[in-house]
Amino acid sequence: MTLEIDVVTLFPAMVEGPLAESIPGRIQEQGLVAIRVHDLRRWGLGRHRSVDDTPYGGGAGMVLRPEPVAGALAELRRPDSTVILLDPAGEVFRHERARDLATRSHLVLLCPRYEGVDDRIRSLVDLELSIGDYVLTGGELPALVVIDAVIRLLPGAIDDASTLEESFADGLLEYPQYTRPAEFDGQGVPEVLVSGDHGAIRAWRRAAALERTRQRRPDLLRDRDHPG
Ligand code: SAM
Repeated sequence: MTLEIDVVTLFPAMVEGPLAESIPGRIQEQGLVAIRVHDLRRWGLGRHRSVDDTPYGGGAGMVLRPEPVAGALAELRRPDSTVILLDPAGEVFRHERARDLATRSHLVLLCPRYEGVDDRIRSLVDLELSIGDYVLTGGELPALVVIDAVIRLLPGAIDDASTLEESFADGLLEYPQYTRPAEFDGQGVPEVLVSGDHGAIRAWRRAAALERTRQRRPDLLRDRDHPG
């Protein structure tokens, strides 16, 4: 099955460029995902295809008017769609959500700019996502983060072993990785990794992943022990 993704933005090139490169580009060529990027101005108002206006009540910046966004959704939404608004007030995007979105058939990502959207747009979306507690200039980079995290989880996109073992897959950070040379900057490589004993390597990696998580992200261990 091909995951279909429609992205609505005022800056299509910002989204198209990064997705054409490297692994995201290959995942599209393989036909695992079909990504279409739309210019919100297509649904803009009047001769100037206007999409924004000043906020009621005054204050800095411009707000995206609801009609262009509603127009885009009227055209793009299907019965199987999940419509996502990128917004700092949304659910913080995590691996679990990426895994969930990778099972859907159609995602529509709305990327606001300026001061964000007219609040009435929130009733038209299924999910609001934030990529962290900071403010970016627009929803394009957050949309790219979500798309990248989701499409690499599609079956066949990349080696299943790497997505099963990497950080967050099991509620833990990944174990430390090493490659050649055997000695770098006075530091060696844990001996077990060159022992050829696969059972011992598995056990070491498991223990190292737990230790790294305990040291750096104890919150992940708490979430793992008490989900929800
Ligand atoms: N006035 C908004 C606020 O204080 O919450 C911030 C608007 S921001 C300048 C413009 C747009 O960038 C937002 O509407 C959202 O689409 C996107 N954006 C910025 N930071 C984001 C984040 N951390 N996660 C997701 N989207 C974000």
